[in-house]
Amino acid sequence: MKKCSIKGCPGHYEKKDITHVVNKHGQIIIIENVPAEVCTVCGDTLLTLDVVRALEKFLANPGEPSKSAPIYQMPSKEMAA
Ligand SMILES: [Zn+2]
Repeated sequence: MKKCSIKGCPGHYEKKDITHVVNKHGQIIIIENVPAEVCTVCGDTLLTLDVVRALEKFLANPGEPSKSAPIYQMPSKEMAA
């Protein structure tokens, strides 16, 4: 098991499919079911070089999305307090 790379974090990475969010020239793109390694404690996420390359290749010509999602802004700082 790979230990978390965040200083002082006692967690380790676990294989997990994640929802990856990319900001491409100001446009938000969401890719589901991206294989990643996620820390069980702090949630730090690692993508392998192969996955990063595959995503880059895909994002160069992603075509029509299979689904879409609403995007909102954080309403106000008071709500987070
Ligand atoms: Zn961690």
